Amino acid sequence: MINRRQWLYGMWAMAGAAAQPGGVLPPDANQPEQGQPHPLNLSAFVPTSMLQVPQTRVERARFPLIDFHTHITTSANSKSGVALTSDRKFLGTTEELLPVMDGKNIRAMVNLTGGYDKGLGETIAQYDRAFIGRFYTFTEPCYERWKEPNYPQVQAEAVEQAYRQGARGLKILKTLGLYLRENITSGELVKIDDPRFDPMWDACGQLNLPVAIHVSDPLAFFTPTDRFNERYEELTNHPDWSFYGRDFPSNAELLAARNRVIARHPRTQFVVLHVGNFAENLANVSENLDRFPNMSVDIAARIGELGRQPRTARRFFEAYQDRILFGTDATPHGDQFPQQVFNDQLYEIYYRFLETDDEYFDYAPAKIPPQGRWRIYGINLPETILRKVYFENAARQLKVAS
Ligand SMILES: [Zn+2]
Repeated sequence: MINRRQWLYGMWAMAGAAAQPGGVLPPDANQPEQGQPHPLNLSAFVPTSMLQVPQTRVERARFPLIDFHTHITTSANSKSGVALTSDRKFLGTTEELLPVMDGKNIRAMVNLTGGYDKGLGETIAQYDRAFIGRFYTFTEPCYERWKEPNYPQVQAEAVEQAYRQGARGLKILKTLGLYLRENITSGELVKIDDPRFDPMWDACGQLNLPVAIHVSDPLAFFTPTDRFNERYEELTNHPDWSFYGRDFPSNAELLAARNRVIARHPRTQFVVLHVGNFAENLANVSENLDRFPNMSVDIAARIGELGRQPRTARRFFEAYQDRILFGTDATPHGDQFPQQVFNDQLYEIYYRFLETDDEYFDYAPAKIPPQGRWRIYGINLPETILRKVYFENAARQLKVAS
């Protein structure tokens, strides 16, 4: 046990420049009180790194970019993980978004969760049409009509209608595979490669609309939330993110079903979000990219994974530089998920990861790393690759001129 004098000295040293010499330290509920028994609670452990290495602040991206993965609107009503209405909740106004975009060199944001029908129309009017070239909206399946006997045709036509409304792609949330059930919110889980979706995938291919698809989740979400789980705190904060047990398929089963869809629809472009939903295993993602010429990936909400394997990640970017898209998962006012909150700091972290060789820094604007207790290393990409990842690869999917 340390005595109070040593403890106070330690606290003062940790507080660093912020502390006033001779001042009284403010009480902090997270700090251990004198005599608090060991062990320290994990939630109270906030170690300050004593490593002294260069720190680069990258305020603006080196080139204008497209953030291919954001959520500016979302469904106004969901039940058991399934969106049940076309009505939208608007999470951020253009007045809030545009100044940050201009400051951070963001040419355009892709709002993936634009919904369908009336809600989609309203979203496109408020963003895409009001500020041409700054916002692109994707449509989503209307699962509320899943029980209709001619759903496959209905859904293919809905994609066509969305295209006419101005949608630039189709977004598939992990709803497919993990939430949507035969009776929408009850019954057996519907498989990702269920043939009833085939006309929808084909319609996207015919209309040249990319499919931004999220299936599965981090591998740790499929293992018990126990002391061996590297994302224990995150899963404790969000217990509903665990897909361990019950009737959930394994991560491998979900990815295999997704691969069967990609193989079956070679004329449809699939942007598999979150680094192909397997950022923990870039060898596997590489294998799939080699197998499927119609597959690309984005990096949204996965720099925590990429940045803890900087050498492997850098080789991955070199090998697949034409098929990796910049994305963040940015959500205005999404403060409860610091790894994807839309603000200046979030973008600066992404730029630092891609553009510098800084070492051991936070992957999210948060006191405690929210997706696991580690830090990341920059991969210092050359300008030719940066241009592709920031802009050109997304521009090609969206049919936007450079
Ligand atoms: Zn997302």
